[in-house]
Amino acid sequence: MKAIAVHPGKPGSIHLEDVPKPSPDDIPGGRGVLVKVLRVGVDGTDKEINAAEYGAAPPGDDFLIIGHENFGTVEEVGPNVPDTIRPGNYVVASVRRPGSSLYGKIGLQDFTTDDVYYERGINLLHGYLTEYYVEDSDFVFPLPETLREVGVLLEPTTVAEKGINHAYEIQRRLKIWQPRRAAILGSGTIGLLMALAARLRGLELTVLSLPQKHLIMDATGFSPIIWEAAEVLGKNGVLVLSSITGGERKAEINSDRINQSFVLGNKVMVGTVNAAPADFRSGVDDLIKAEALFPGWLKKLLTTPIRGLENYDQMIRALTEDRDAIKVYVEVAPNGAG
Ligand code: BGC
Ligand code: ZN
Repeated sequence: MKAIAVHPGKPGSIHLEDVPKPSPDDIPGGRGVLVKVLRVGVDGTDKEINAAEYGAAPPGDDFLIIGHENFGTVEEVGPNVPDTIRPGNYVVASVRRPGSSLYGKIGLQDFTTDDVYYERGINLLHGYLTEYYVEDSDFVFPLPETLREVGVLLEPTTVAEKGINHAYEIQRRLKIWQPRRAAILGSGTIGLLMALAARLRGLELTVLSLPQKHLIMDATGFSPIIWEAAEVLGKNGVLVLSSITGGERKAEINSDRINQSFVLGNKVMVGTVNAAPADFRSGVDDLIKAEALFPGWLKKLLTTPIRGLENYDQMIRALTEDRDAIKVYVEVAPNGAG
């Protein structure tokens, strides 16, 4: 079967690879789920992997199948897969897998303390830009039929969900925290999904110039902005950082002022990466709510479909050059959604 792969370390090496079709028996314990891939979204991480700035092949292979924002339908399940996952169901698999850290042993590999991490389509594990994949049911999340058009947005949604879920988790330190105003920095897919998550939690979305935000979330990819955000964060507020900034950028900051306002204002700045099972579940809930409350909004994010794995060239061009694209995704197989 076809797969879109790169040779990690070789810039611009994106190509089609021919790989064997997996089977549910490849997964131990009878928990194998064989999934037919329908759609896969691509993002800045895929761009960096093709530019050889990021990513590693699985041991023994000289190529890495890319793609981590997956959406598909179950073909076949092993005998010990829970009955919430049945052939014909729509599913999304998570990205990160446990390493040796204790966090992985309790299913929270998004909090790994290991230096090496295992992420499908990114680091040391093959991804989903292929026709079929097999995965342990522990890492597979079912979606209702109603999300068939927008389910490919679940993985980026979980990144936004983890950020906001942890902001609320952190604020349980306060006996009451009733945030009203949030500012979201960045208008890419993650920024827009953060805005959605905040809106669904009843927050008013404001612009940066107004002071006293209770919650600020950054997804700009531009690190100097976080110091400005730190200055307009309100008392007892939380600033959530989610941009992966591989560069060496420096900024001049109002160090004393920021430090003092954090101390006297009991403020928090927190980083977030990847997502836990709870974030996948709240992500599914939020996608369902979004479809009910703002019908058609999510679909508008799916600006740039690429038809078929063989059009990988067009995919990478849209990802790197199309300034108007919000979400570029590959339609690997038709799912009847319009
Ligand atoms: C993915 C995350 C991943 C992160 C770091 C992001 O693009 O969506 O799942 O943890 O990259 O590799
Ligand atoms: Zn991503």
